[in-house]
Amino acid sequence: MVTQTSISYYGLNYVEHAEADFKEMKAHGITQVILAVTEFDFDFWRPNIPAIVDKAHELGLRVLIDPWGNGKYFGGEQVSKFLQDNVENRQVSALTGEKLPYACFNTNSYRDYFKNFCTTLAREAKPDGFFWDEPHYAFPKGIASITGGVADDWTCYCPVCRKRFEDYYGYPMPKYMTNDVKQFRWREALVVLSETSKALKEIDPKLEITCCVHATQNGYYVSEYRGYDNWDMVGACPYFDVFSTTIINWALPEDFFLDITRRTVAIAKKYGKKSERWLMGYYKQPKDWAQVAKWVDLAVAEGVDRLAAWTYRGGYGTVVGAPDALKLWDTIGESYKRVLNK
Ligand SMILES: [Zn+2]
Repeated sequence: MVTQTSISYYGLNYVEHAEADFKEMKAHGITQVILAVTEFDFDFWRPNIPAIVDKAHELGLRVLIDPWGNGKYFGGEQVSKFLQDNVENRQVSALTGEKLPYACFNTNSYRDYFKNFCTTLAREAKPDGFFWDEPHYAFPKGIASITGGVADDWTCYCPVCRKRFEDYYGYPMPKYMTNDVKQFRWREALVVLSETSKALKEIDPKLEITCCVHATQNGYYVSEYRGYDNWDMVGACPYFDVFSTTIINWALPEDFFLDITRRTVAIAKKYGKKSERWLMGYYKQPKDWAQVAKWVDLAVAEGVDRLAAWTYRGGYGTVVGAPDALKLWDTIGESYKRVLNK
C-alpha cells in the first residue's frame, strides 16, 4: 500500500512563497516534499531553510532534504560550489588522466564537506530525513545501456583512489575495469553515504534515509557501472531505510517499467526496507495521459510503498519542463489522490 506520495521542490528562497507552493502540493495529493537544497542554498539562503521546513511541517507535509547535485556527484542540473572551491579532489578519467567536473566522493575532502552539509542541515532544519539522489561515478554512463552507448573509460583514477586500491589489493590500480576495480568502486562508493547516514542517525535516530539509484537493467549482458548498480550491496546498507530507483521515460516499454518496479520491491523486501518508485514529472509526458494512472496502478499492484515524481509543476518555466508541464503536474496529482483514497 502506498503510504507516501512525494514531489521534489527547488528554488526555495522565501518562506511565504514556499507556503503558497506547499498548499498547491497538498491540493495535488502530495504527502512528502523532497526539498532540493543546493550548495548555493546552503551557503547563501541558510537562515530561511529551517523556516521553510517548519512551514511544510505546519501544513502537514513530511520533508526529506535532497543534497541536489552536490559535488555533481548526485544527479541534478545546478552548479557545485565544492568544484568551484577545489581544484583537486575531482574524479579522474582512467584512460586520459583528465580531471573531471565531478567531486571524487572517495576523498576525505569531499567526504567531510558532504557530511558537514548534511549534519548541519539536520541540526538546523530538523527534516524528517534525507534523500540520496542518483549518486554516481562520472563514467561509464552506460555499458550498452538504455541511457548511453558502450563505454570504455571510467572513473575514478585520482591519486586518492589509486593509493587506496593499491593499499588494499597490493598492486597498482589497473586502467582497465577488472573485477577488483568493480568491487573497489562499489565498496568505496558506499562509504560516503554510509558514514553520513550513520552520523545523521546519531543526531536523530528517527531521521529516515532513502537511497535512490539509477533504474538500470543490471543483467547478464547489460549493466551500468556507476557505483550503485550492485543493488544487493546498496540494499544491505544498514543505515538506509528506503530503497528507491529513478525515473523511467514514459516512452520506454511498460515491460521495462514493470521489471524495474518488481526488482526494486524485491530488493527492498529482501533487506527489510521500504520500496520507492519514481515517475517522470518533468521533461517528457506520455502520449496518452492515461499512461500515468496505468503505471501508478502497476506500481501499486507490485507492492511499492512510496511513489515520487520529479518535479513540482512538471518543471514549468525551466529548460526541463514537460511540453504541457502543468497538465502533467495535475495528472500526477489526480493519481496520487486516487491511490491515497482522497
Ligand atoms: Zn578518486
